[in-house]
Amino acid sequence: MDFTVLTLFPELLDSFFDHGMIARGIKKKLITADSINIRDFSTDRHNTVDDRPYGGGSGMVMKPEVLQAAVLHAKQKNPRSKVVLMSPQGIKFNQEKARKYAAQKQGIIFVCGRYEGIDERVYTTLIDEEISIGDYVMTGGELASMVIIDATARLIPGVLGSVESYQSDSFTSDRLEYAQYTRPEKFDELKVPEILLSGNHEKIRLWRKNSSLQRTFLKRPDLFEKSQLDTEEKKIVKLWIQELTTLIE
Ligand code: SAM
Repeated sequence: MDFTVLTLFPELLDSFFDHGMIARGIKKKLITADSINIRDFSTDRHNTVDDRPYGGGSGMVMKPEVLQAAVLHAKQKNPRSKVVLMSPQGIKFNQEKARKYAAQKQGIIFVCGRYEGIDERVYTTLIDEEISIGDYVMTGGELASMVIIDATARLIPGVLGSVESYQSDSFTSDRLEYAQYTRPEKFDELKVPEILLSGNHEKIRLWRKNSSLQRTFLKRPDLFEKSQLDTEEKKIVKLWIQELTTLIE
């Protein structure tokens, strides 16, 4: 999978590409990650990339012809790449979207806006998809592109060390992940649950299922409400209800 980020600040992306999981994915030749400076496609002697908005008002707008030249250049490497504009007005990014991106073969070109955003005409001619990372406004699309590349790259087979590293992650199913513990066994008078020290894999599996369900119920009731419970989970919830009823009585 080829990730290409069109930005006015390529140096913001460079250190992200040079570290951790992304750097390992590149080394294993499972992904490529490049940043391209939009300013390189400006044609005037001042390297202008923005201009005042028609109709007046504050701020500057990114010029369409400069963005077009940058996108066309990026597409030369991988003509079937999807062009994704980072925008607070776009469809909200989530784990499902990350899974879809990770499963596709074509590359993704991220367009990072700055200032007041980009000229409206670019949407119709160049952009395949407009994606937001949340209902807030940042000063540029670079952080948003990094969020999306990180969440997507870790789902590409082989990029993470082991498949298990993401299979139990929150949102892989419609649950949050179970509680995790590591050494020491006792910390600030709080002990690791006995079952996790027992070595009994079946009991540990059930404990984790229970923990995952409980956390989803308490932290994300919206997710819990939508989730389909399997037979084991129905039994677990029945036990909760019995325990609660005993407490109340
Ligand atoms: N004037 C625009 C509006 O109100 O919709 C906001 C422009 S914002 C200051 C500048 C750039 O940051 C946007 O073009 C976009 O690329 C990026 N950006 C800001 N918030 C974002 C978000 N929540 N998700 C994705 N990109 C965002």
